[in-house]
Amino acid sequence: MRPVAVARHVHGWDSERETVDTEVAIVGAGPYGLSLAAHLDALRVPFRIFGTTMEFWKSSMPEGMSLKSEGCASSIYEPTHSFTLKRYCADQGLPYADLGLPVSLSSFIAYGVAFQQYAVPSLEQVRVTCVNGEDGSFSIELDTGESLTVRKVVVAVGVGYFAYVPDEIALLHPNVVVEGAGRWEVVDRLYQGNWTNILHPQMAAYIKSQLEKAAAVANDAGVPMVFLTAPCTQEPEQPDGDAWPEDNPARRDAYNRMIREIAAAHPRTVSVDDLDKAACPGGRYATTVHGVVIRTVNDGVHFTPQGGVFLAPSLIPPIVAAGRAQMAGGTAPASGGG
Ligand SMILES: Cc1cc2nc3c(=O)[nH]c(=O)nc-3n(C[C@H](O)[C@H](O)[C@H](O)COP(=O)(O)OP(=O)(O)OC[C@H]3O[C@@H](n4cnc5c(N)ncnc54)[C@H](O)[C@@H]3O)c2cc1C
Repeated sequence: MRPVAVARHVHGWDSERETVDTEVAIVGAGPYGLSLAAHLDALRVPFRIFGTTMEFWKSSMPEGMSLKSEGCASSIYEPTHSFTLKRYCADQGLPYADLGLPVSLSSFIAYGVAFQQYAVPSLEQVRVTCVNGEDGSFSIELDTGESLTVRKVVVAVGVGYFAYVPDEIALLHPNVVVEGAGRWEVVDRLYQGNWTNILHPQMAAYIKSQLEKAAAVANDAGVPMVFLTAPCTQEPEQPDGDAWPEDNPARRDAYNRMIREIAAAHPRTVSVDDLDKAACPGGRYATTVHGVVIRTVNDGVHFTPQGGVFLAPSLIPPIVAAGRAQMAGGTAPASGGG
């Protein structure tokens, strides 16, 4: 492409200093790159955008994942505010709710692709291989062999391509992953527009599917997963004197049954370590066990530091055993601590 003095074409631009191929180059065609391109287009700022549409989402997200962000917080921002995820799902007959209905990975990728076709048809599906700063401009090389000069570069390459990963994180190759969940899983939750809880079959199926995914993510990396059982809890009563619903032992039992079912289905890679049994002798809540104050007084949920020291000898060995088994050849032991 022949260089042009883009400043002449840009509304409100007063710089005629340099001859460049275009004003802005955007590297990356994920949600942010695409959004920015839509805005530059609306502002009539000359730009080029490079990358494969939603590549990171297509290639690097866990299969079957749902978005963490709610539907109402997952639209790609564009100036007309009209090409929303909500509208796309309605047009395509896909399930959608502002709140309480997880957005599937496949829906979000399809939405991103449609967004690109609608708002950023000029996307060039090529890779940028080099960016060099020069006096007041940048030279860019593409994997097609083309070079261009631009005044500004937006590096919208997401998290997948960080050149530097801190040692503390880079060195993390765990031999075992421990999941200590079971609290938010037993509280009342808004799901698919309704308040519900783990005792409701639909909610139970959703929670179980999320736990299975967590185990699958660890197992995909060759790491066994150890689930801690949810321990009994006993918060101070509500103002009307009732107990809190999340302290209902039936909810805790439902969660603990769930993780045992997952472990039974994956005996070589998933196991259960019984925090509940260790912290709640006889199945009952106790602030003090064997003379040690293990729970924060007047709290009913959290453990004290000395409680951690007290519980460690029964909880840690099955976790260490699972890690050692992985190091020795990749099998997890049978569930620990009952
Ligand atoms: C497991 C997981 C779950 C997430 N869930 C959510 C969620 O629910 N909600 C949410 O808002 N966010 C979520 N995120 C964060 C999410 O990654 C960002 O919100 C979003 O993808 C950021 O968009 P982006 O355009 O900056 O980056 P990306 O989506 O990563 O896009 C950057 C693109 O740049 C491309 N690229 C890189 N180098 C080049 C190059 N040299 N030339 C051309 N192209 C290049 C990459 O291929 C990539 O496609 C999640 C992230 C992860 C890892």
